[in-house]
Amino acid sequence: MYLSGNQVRQSFINFFAERGHTVVPSASLVPGGDSTLLFTNAGMVQFKDVFLGTETRPYTRAVNSQKCLRVSGKHNDLDTVGRDNTHHTFFEMLGNWSFGDYYKKEAIGWSWELLTKVWGLEPGRLYATYFVDDQGDLPADEESRQVWLLQPGFVPENLVQGGRKDNFWEMAETGPCGPCSEIHYDFGPEACNLKDVPGHVCEVNGDCGRIVEIWNDVFIQYNRTSPTEFQPLPKRHVDTGMGFERIVSIIQGVNGNYETDLLKPLLDETQRLAGQTTEERQANITAYRVIADHVRAATFLISDGVIPGNVGRNYVCRMIIRRAARFARNINLSEPFMAKVAARVIENYQLAYPELSANRELIEDTLTAEEQRFAETLDSGFVQLQEYIEELKTYGQTSLDGRRAFDLYATLGFPLEITRDILEESGLQVEEAGFFEAMEEHRLASSRGHYFDDIHQDTIEVFKQERERINKDLKGQVVNSSQAESSYVPYGALSKETILDSIVVDNQPVEQAYPNASVAIMVRESIFYVEGGGQITDTGVVSSNPKGSWEIRIDQASKPASDAYVLNGKVIFGHPRRGDAIIIEVDAERRLATMRNHTGTHLLHTALRQVLGDKVHQSGSVVDPERMRFDFNYPHAISKTDLLKIEDVVNQLIADEYQVHKTIKTLEQAKAEGATALFGEKYGSQVRTIEIADQRGRVSYELCGGTHVDNTAQIGSFYILSESSVAAGLRRIEAVTGLGAYHYARERINQLNQIASFLQTSPTEALSKTEALEAELKQNRRELERAHAEVANLSFKQKLDEVREVSGVSLLSALIPNADVDSLRSLADQFRQKYTSGVVVLGTVVNEKPLMIAAVTPDLIKRGLKAGDLIKKVAQVVGGGGGGRPDMAQAGGKDPSKLPEALKQVDAYVIENLN
Ligand SMILES: [Zn+2]
Ligand SMILES: [Zn+2]
Repeated sequence: MYLSGNQVRQSFINFFAERGHTVVPSASLVPGGDSTLLFTNAGMVQFKDVFLGTETRPYTRAVNSQKCLRVSGKHNDLDTVGRDNTHHTFFEMLGNWSFGDYYKKEAIGWSWELLTKVWGLEPGRLYATYFVDDQGDLPADEESRQVWLLQPGFVPENLVQGGRKDNFWEMAETGPCGPCSEIHYDFGPEACNLKDVPGHVCEVNGDCGRIVEIWNDVFIQYNRTSPTEFQPLPKRHVDTGMGFERIVSIIQGVNGNYETDLLKPLLDETQRLAGQTTEERQANITAYRVIADHVRAATFLISDGVIPGNVGRNYVCRMIIRRAARFARNINLSEPFMAKVAARVIENYQLAYPELSANRELIEDTLTAEEQRFAETLDSGFVQLQEYIEELKTYGQTSLDGRRAFDLYATLGFPLEITRDILEESGLQVEEAGFFEAMEEHRLASSRGHYFDDIHQDTIEVFKQERERINKDLKGQVVNSSQAESSYVPYGALSKETILDSIVVDNQPVEQAYPNASVAIMVRESIFYVEGGGQITDTGVVSSNPKGSWEIRIDQASKPASDAYVLNGKVIFGHPRRGDAIIIEVDAERRLATMRNHTGTHLLHTALRQVLGDKVHQSGSVVDPERMRFDFNYPHAISKTDLLKIEDVVNQLIADEYQVHKTIKTLEQAKAEGATALFGEKYGSQVRTIEIADQRGRVSYELCGGTHVDNTAQIGSFYILSESSVAAGLRRIEAVTGLGAYHYARERINQLNQIASFLQTSPTEALSKTEALEAELKQNRRELERAHAEVANLSFKQKLDEVREVSGVSLLSALIPNADVDSLRSLADQFRQKYTSGVVVLGTVVNEKPLMIAAVTPDLIKRGLKAGDLIKKVAQVVGGGGGGRPDMAQAGGKDPSKLPEALKQVDAYVIENLN
């Protein structure tokens, strides 16, 4: 039975939906709220918190197909992509999930039923594995073994044992874990690539390509508390994962993933664009596969809001596009072509992933712009790298200095991965540590912030434990008030009376802290906003209640672990003790300024779409008390007129005094009502919405966890400070509101007043006065130039007396004071008109730099004297270089004092080089 890729995906989802599973959409490739992960790399990423028990979902059974990307870290297939027929950067993972619902009997039974009954795979080709502990701490998974033997048609000999390495799954060194049962498919003896190796036996989890894993059912049943201690979990879960591309290749009976209808059309389109024959395609199959894989990955990345850039995720996007572009050179594709391949990706995948067609224009424009950008430096990069390779070979070295590789990236845009690819083709390597060192230095020098904050693992552990201890303590107490539960409510009053639950100093929980100690504390009810959604952290003060015994200055609010809201700061005086009654106060002025800027970004978003169109999508923002920074996708710079319009729209919305409504509702409801969600953000089933609206209509409606003013009038006023490019297709606006806007305007007015008083006029007259002065200046400059030209002409006429005859040629080399390029040129022309056979070299000093011009008459060019070569030679004396046409050339230099010496060399050069 033939099924298209789309039909395979749909039949998987339907099969489990019919068995009570909720169909959950794929999460974004950018993991929400998980800063430890660059990209979503498995189906379970969006359910991680459910397994950890810190998040609940309204369903207990789920099914999905998840977009995944593996390009860095432990699971990294980049180097093998294209070399074989099975590896990818981007891939899809099909999964069915039970959260404390069904278990092994159903999971295994359904896997078997789907594979053999629905998809019609031959039972004899299927193998299964179950867990038998090779370390002796855990019982064998007898239950799975029994269930497998009951499956109709299952061959008992095809049931295989596996140990910790292949058949036990854990998320980390501690936490939820359990045995798993893998299903493998036998491609038959001809698929064995090790047939000729003496003694080789084809095996499950063996070395050859004959029997390969297609599906893994994980049974989460333990909580690991130490290397050898496992506690049974009260709720047991099922987590399964099946490689989509591989199962499609099996069902379609084709030789490898790149032959499926998921990827083959991309290879076909590439072949069409390259105009190659089937034989040529086969000879260059690695390039074809890399292009298909990378363009597909980039298409999905861009549609999830990741555009090419220099750091983090954006670097990865840039790297895969450029890597595809460089492989395209191997098949003579040098013009931008990826948009056309991406169009096939969108066509093929839009049913399952509607975000692709919604972002079609953005995807195609971004790919083309990045290809064009890379094309500018690609050839120079190849040449430079080739020089490095020669040099390495000359000196018998095998590894390129990482700093040179970084220079190649910084100046010619060669990502490390491309440099590595090219070096490997010559049997060489690149020293990667040096590359990253140089990158780190460059990053620290060029940016103020970190992109991926590494929260120390120990810190996370400490606060997880403190959270558990506090929760236990609270449960033990008589519930007599709302204070029996800890909470995070940054949206209400800016001061609160509550309890100090935990003090941590140097990663150690303590009873009491001392003056000047750096502390991290947890309070019963935290009102400090934790950095998120672009808005920066609150600061403030925590003090004893009543005030006076002790005080802590709070510099940052953070959330190192689930439910663990932590305030970091310093003890100013006194001895804070665990359990103390406290007063917590947020720095109100700072917070209010931040709120004005945050609500301001929502208005700016509205104004941008109103003035520039719906194509504008927010890509990120930073909101602090001083200013807002707003990044958005837009193909080119914004005109001054449009910037003023945008500023006008925002200020009008402020003056119109719109109400700002903050409401919690379900994600479905908010989306149905038209709320804007951001790229790559992860939202729970309950979301906070910010709606700016009244009876006149709705101005803005966004999902947002930030703090906002109650009425737009509180923003005061709004000024755009700058508009700039962050990367191809990504623009940035910086703006100010409230008192920040006042200070900005005040400063500008002061500057204008100073200018006016300097010009001895009024501010309103300052511009016309400046224009008049500018015209006067221009006039004076013209007169001066005319005078200089006259002087130069005069001195040239005198110098004509110095024309000598050298080897029968009229020759003049002279210093002309106060000349410029144009006058030297016109003097050289005069010389050539006067002498039918001659050489002239003139020098002058412009802006304290030497400048020379040489001219040669046509008859002498034929005799081997070229102005370009001549000037190159004599300019060396003034520490410069130059060149040009054989009849006229110019050169610059560094040392004007050497000009006379340089001019003296002309005679000798002419004598030597004239044939
Ligand atoms: Zn084999
Ligand atoms: Zn917001």
